[in-house]
Amino acid sequence: AYVITSACRDEKAAECVEVCPVDAIHGDDVQYYIDPNTCIDCGACEPVCPVEAIYQEDMVPEEEQEYIEINANFFK
Ligand code: SF4
Repeated sequence: AYVITSACRDEKAAECVEVCPVDAIHGDDVQYYIDPNTCIDCGACEPVCPVEAIYQEDMVPEEEQEYIEINANFFK
């Protein structure tokens, strides 16, 4: 799955929400998150993010690793 990291916090540009074909992206007051059980790894969201907050799960930078769990937990 793809993961939305800290750059989204207080940014919430929402371009990703518009392009996701399976409606996997939802948010709260802070940021958006990707549901790992809904994401089909199409990659459409990554290039449209103006703050480069989105990474494929295996490509998440070391300092952003916690966001893999933060994204998943939002949908529990
Ligand atoms: Fe949606 Fe595709 Fe991004 Fe997954 S990779 S969240 S399916 S746009």
